[in-house]
Amino acid sequence: MLRGLIQEVPLLISSLITHASRHHGDAEIVSRTVEGPAADGSGAIHRYTYRDAHKRARQLAQALARLGVKDGDRVGTLAWNGYRHFEAFYGISGMGAVMHTVNPRLFPEQLVYIINHAEDGYMLFDLTFAPLVEKLAPACKGVKGWIAMTDRAHMPKITLPNLLCYEELVAAENGNYEWPQLDEYTASSLCYTSGTTGNPKGVLYSHRSTVIHAFAAALPDALNISARDVMLPVVPMFHANAWSLPYGCAMVGAKLVFPGAALDGKSLYELFEAEKVTVSAGVPTVWLALLMYAGQEKKKFSTMNRTVIGGSACPPAMIKTFQEEYGVQVLHAWGMTEMSPLGTVSTLKAKHLKLSKEQKLAIQSKQGHNIFGADMKIVDGEGKDLPWDGKVFGDLLVRGPWITSSYFKGEGGDPLRLDEKGQGWFPTGDVATIDPDGYMQITDRSKDVIKTGGEWISTIDLENIAVGHPAVAEAAVIGCFHPKWDERPLLIVVKKPGAELTREELLKFYEGKVAKWWMPDDCVFVDQLPHTATGKLLKTKLREDFKGHKLPTA
Ligand code: AMP
Repeated sequence: MLRGLIQEVPLLISSLITHASRHHGDAEIVSRTVEGPAADGSGAIHRYTYRDAHKRARQLAQALARLGVKDGDRVGTLAWNGYRHFEAFYGISGMGAVMHTVNPRLFPEQLVYIINHAEDGYMLFDLTFAPLVEKLAPACKGVKGWIAMTDRAHMPKITLPNLLCYEELVAAENGNYEWPQLDEYTASSLCYTSGTTGNPKGVLYSHRSTVIHAFAAALPDALNISARDVMLPVVPMFHANAWSLPYGCAMVGAKLVFPGAALDGKSLYELFEAEKVTVSAGVPTVWLALLMYAGQEKKKFSTMNRTVIGGSACPPAMIKTFQEEYGVQVLHAWGMTEMSPLGTVSTLKAKHLKLSKEQKLAIQSKQGHNIFGADMKIVDGEGKDLPWDGKVFGDLLVRGPWITSSYFKGEGGDPLRLDEKGQGWFPTGDVATIDPDGYMQITDRSKDVIKTGGEWISTIDLENIAVGHPAVAEAAVIGCFHPKWDERPLLIVVKKPGAELTREELLKFYEGKVAKWWMPDDCVFVDQLPHTATGKLLKTKLREDFKGHKLPTA
């Protein structure tokens, strides 16, 4: 081998914050805290720069080292999107320890399992979660200290033998700290999947995978972020690294705005306007609330020009509303915790620009094309490749330098499937089509697809049609037992406030939009739909709730 003569500089997470501090030092990081004076619970605004964050991240690294945290040790967080959480992203990983973001929306038993499985030595937490921490602590014996992310004046009134104060720890250090030059394959962070069945599984990222993923995420045909942007990640930092935004924004020097705990439509809208946010990112349920607020209050966005939507399928009706009524371009993205998380984004190619609005919308509604670094394919039950014709659907497999090879501690089985060349592909559990231009469209999670008389029906397609009805706020479709066909689609709907709509009207709305045998057999209205800890429809619960439902066609 003739070796290239290029400097061997490892790709490290600390290099992102070092770069942001040196080259975009005065770009702001603005956070709504949870400690503020506001009576409605939304906190005061904290404002500083990448330069300040870099210093405090190093102080945090020094503080953790003083507590005895060593290379590879796991340090957990239970926190909203905010500046201290951002410091933890860099301080913990940067020093060579493993940043473990824990999703506080999970059930306490799951949290205990995750914290113990990860063997978190220290846990950082936001004040909101003080009562939760008090509950968890007795079952998490390995945690040597619970660090409240606040100052002395706001310390929670809970009794824990090993309660520490973040600001005191940080203030005791001077920040004169050199980031260690780690091997870029060193583990940097850990995030557990929010599986609805079985124990959560740990995905262990490396410095290298995180930095390469951040490069790819920032590209124009991915999340398209730059130094001229103001990014407000609504997606939580505990949900798949907030889709890389804490890293990608530092890489490009974008201003960051963290919303803290105030994720309702009104608070978000006000922050978008006050901080002149240009781009945001979140799951469809968040945008549903924001659009509802903006619609009722007749608000428009003065600076926001685009938003990333992913985590579950974004209904075409939502894309259309954002784009046509608010002038906000939607970037529909797909990925998963095991993929760091980005796999595809649905941006248009040059040849699409001349298409009609409706044709463009149809492309944008797909989950999109691979961003460089991630590759994908669809296979049949025997693992044989299926054609990219946009019609045939199969199991979606992925491969790339930021995609998991196995779960933490090997628990979760050996996930990879080897192809004929011996290369490992990760089965996503999603069922999809890929069209000749490489645009992938998810038809379902394989567990959710409706199997009726040997044929498959996509629940996402049926849900998208329902939310296209002006009176529908949210919809879920599940397979319901049918004595002849095994399963038939049952539509479960939340109406918009004050809207009038009958079962018959909604079922009729499907006519001409899908094949006859795809039409839902029944429709029920509910006040709300259950969601997972990451905002997806909780279909296991719906299937449980409607187990005894008798279809009129049965
Ligand atoms: P998580 O690891 O919690 O982010 O969940 C990953 C799963 O969410 C994927 O395997 C998909 O089933 C689903 N998902 C994520 N983004 C999308 C999307 N844009 N459309 C449909 N499903 C999605």
